Amino acid sequence: MRVSTGKATVSDSRMFTVVVESFGVGRQRRAERQLTVPFAQLQSLMQTIALKGGRIRVIGSGEVNTRVEAAAPIKSETAPQPSAPAAVTHAVVPVNLYKPKNPFIGTVTGNYSLLTDGAIGRVNHISFDLSGGDPLLHYVEGQSIGIIPDGNDANGKPHKLRLYSIASTRHGDDLADHTVSLCVRQLQYEKDGETINGVCSTFLCDIEPGAQVKITGPVGKEMLLPPDEDANVIMLATGTGIAPMRAYLRRMFDHGERAKNPEYQFRGKAWLFMGAPKTANLLYEDDLQQYLADFPENFRYTKAISREQENAKGGRMYIQDRVLENAEEIFSWIENPKTHVYMCGLRGMEPGIDEAMTAAAAAKGLTWSELRPQLKKAERWHVETY
Ligand code: NAP
Repeated sequence: MRVSTGKATVSDSRMFTVVVESFGVGRQRRAERQLTVPFAQLQSLMQTIALKGGRIRVIGSGEVNTRVEAAAPIKSETAPQPSAPAAVTHAVVPVNLYKPKNPFIGTVTGNYSLLTDGAIGRVNHISFDLSGGDPLLHYVEGQSIGIIPDGNDANGKPHKLRLYSIASTRHGDDLADHTVSLCVRQLQYEKDGETINGVCSTFLCDIEPGAQVKITGPVGKEMLLPPDEDANVIMLATGTGIAPMRAYLRRMFDHGERAKNPEYQFRGKAWLFMGAPKTANLLYEDDLQQYLADFPENFRYTKAISREQENAKGGRMYIQDRVLENAEEIFSWIENPKTHVYMCGLRGMEPGIDEAMTAAAAAKGLTWSELRPQLKKAERWHVETY
C-alpha cells in the first residue's frame, strides 16, 4: 500500500481518492476500486473499508493514477506490512477545520471535577457537543483544540484562543462520534499579594452544561498514536498532561472503544508514568484501575505522588525519579523498534527525564544525546510540554 500525503493543513474542501482492493461484493470485491469523497467523509470511508476487510492501496488528494504515482503526492511513506490496519495516517489527520475567525460553536454537555477530597486546586473534565458542523469538527487521539473564551482582554480586544489537549478518543466519551472532551486545571497564581485566575481555564471550569463555546482546530500531529496494534507505548504525564494519554488508553483498553474499532485491537504493552501532587489529585484513576484489572498483561501504571512520596534523595517524588528507578526496563523497551514514548505536561520534567535516560543509556554503553534525536527522527519520541 502506498499513502500519498497532503500538506500539513488539509483543506476541508478538497476531494480525496482512495484506491481499494478486496472491497465490495461479488465481482466488485475482486477488482480494484477508486472511491472519491470530500475530506469530511474520508475518515468514515476508511473505517468502513477496514470494517469490511478492504485493503487501501493509495490515498491521494484529487485524482489518483493507480498505475504510476498519486496525482498530488507530497511525500510517500514506506509500505506497511500487509496486515497493517487501514487506520489513520498523518495524511488523513484533520487539521484546522475551524479557524479563529470562523470558529465552531459547540455546546457544553458536561463539566465535572476530576478531583477527590483533599486535592489541591481545581481540575475538571469538560465535554462539548460538536454535531451540526459542516464540516463536522472531528479529530484523532493526540490532537488539541482551541477554545476562545467569552469576553475581552484588558485592551478591549476579544480574547485569543488557548489550546487544550483533547482527552477523548475520536469517538467521544459517549462513542457517538460527535463530542470532544478536555481535562482542564484552573490556572491560579499570586501577583502582588493577589490571587490571579487564568482567563480561559476559569471560563472553562465555571462553564455550565448548555453554554455555547467557540472552538477551533483540531491541530497537532506530534502526539499521534501509531496505528500498529502491537506497538509498545510509554507515557510520561504530569497533571493535566494526562489528557492525550487518557484518549490513547481508552482507545486501547475501553471495551466500548474496542468494539468500535475492529481495525485497532491493541495487543502491545502500554506503560503510564503519572505525576500528581497528592493521591486526591490523580486523574481518571477508576478507569486506569479498570484497565489494570482487565488487561494485566498489557497495561502497567506507575505513579509519582510528589507531596506524599519521597525520592531516593529525600526530595519530592517526580516522574523522572520513577523513570530512573525503572531505567533498565524502560531502555529495553526502547530498544524495541515498536516502542514509542510520549511526554505531556510540565516543561520542567524534560531535563529530569533526559538525566534519567542519560544514566540508563550509559549503563548500556550508549549515549542518550545521540540516541534521542534518532528516536525523534523515527517518530518514536513524542513531546508536548508547556
Ligand atoms: P500539577 O498538578 O501542578 O503537577 C503535576 C505534578 O508534576 C505534581 O506532582 C508536581 O509536583 C509535578 N512537578 C512539578 N514540577 C516538576 C518537574 N520539574 N518535573 C517533574 N514533575 C514536576 O500539574 P498541572 O497543573 O496539571 O500542570 C500540568 C502542566 O501541563 C501545565 O503546565 C499545563 O499547561 C501542561 N499541559 C500541557 C499540555 C500539552 O502540552 N499538550 C497538555 C496538558 C497540560 P509538585 O507540585 O508537588 O512539585
